[in-house]
Amino acid sequence: MLRPESLAVSAGRPPHQPGQPVNTPISMTSTFRHDGDVAYVRDGDDTIHAFEEALGAVERGQALGFSSGMAVVATILEGLPNGAVVVAPSNAYFGVAEMLRQKAALGRLTVRFCDVADTDETVEASSGADLVWLESPLNPTMAICDIEALTAAAHRAGAKVVCDNTFATSVCQQPLNLGVDVVMHSVTKFIAGHSDTLMGALVTRNDELFEELSARRGLYGPLPSSMSSFLALRGLRTLYLRMERAQASAGALAERLALHRNVQRVRYPGLVTDPGHARAARQMTGGFGAMLAFDVVGDHVAAERVSASVELITGATSLGGVETLMERRARYVGEQKVGTPPNLLRLSVGIEHVDDLWADLDQALNSI
Ligand code: PLP
Repeated sequence: MLRPESLAVSAGRPPHQPGQPVNTPISMTSTFRHDGDVAYVRDGDDTIHAFEEALGAVERGQALGFSSGMAVVATILEGLPNGAVVVAPSNAYFGVAEMLRQKAALGRLTVRFCDVADTDETVEASSGADLVWLESPLNPTMAICDIEALTAAAHRAGAKVVCDNTFATSVCQQPLNLGVDVVMHSVTKFIAGHSDTLMGALVTRNDELFEELSARRGLYGPLPSSMSSFLALRGLRTLYLRMERAQASAGALAERLALHRNVQRVRYPGLVTDPGHARAARQMTGGFGAMLAFDVVGDHVAAERVSASVELITGATSLGGVETLMERRARYVGEQKVGTPPNLLRLSVGIEHVDDLWADLDQALNSI
């Protein structure tokens, strides 16, 4: 059987026949002549299916593409019955936390926010739940939850489990192997990898869930465009290669940051001193990833000064592109609501030379 690195390159190609294109072209039609496999683009098209085939092959499941990561979240939550109980990280990616809060305010759901890094607290909260939402590492605190233990407990309680794997990517962590029912990705980030498209995806090995989610996507219509699917598949082709460089640099930067006099705390699960290290070493079988965060010495003003002083590194939101991005997350009200420290800077490490990245960080940190 081919390894995921090879599947990321070889799966989702047109048939191996003379004269066939090597890449699935971008499909620019919304409708198809009667009596074929596809009737209308809300069922997907060849470019979307090519991406799904490749991501599904890499994670050994069935994948579905969406117009954004948030569209995946909305489609999953929409399937819950009125009054369903959802357990979720109190410091989840703030968009997810906000969507859950809004649904709770409308009386659609009951949400039990908890510290998912605390296994006992989360297991207790899972009793009587319908859905347990996990994210590991968490955006942006980099906290790690025990995916396998929490999934087993959720299943004992009769709940389904979704894991947001955006930070770890399919390279570093395969939650389906830890028992999770559905994995979700903001494809916008590392999978697409070039900060040029918005897209989401889910992967599952549960046929019934796949059919249900696929039918809901077809009905509600949050599909990706053919253009996004093409770009995402092109990104997936080099995901393993990019992650190899980016996570090696992230590890090196985390170590250097930990020694800097103007850094109070580094949050990277690859550091042996990180509270999530032992757990991450068990479940992040492909490495510790290319995301890290650090708290600068001082307040939000000091953090903003560092943020404004970088030159090679780009001050912008989002993550997972070939270019290194940095931002003070608590600049957003949504992030303040989930308790993100005001002096925390999140770094998405790209593929530039590590020494150039370090020189830039070092000079920016020395500005405070
Ligand atoms: N999950 C995580 C962890 C994210 O960081 C993001 C976006 O930043 C999302 C989900 C939402 O994805 P999208 O922006 O593609 O809708």
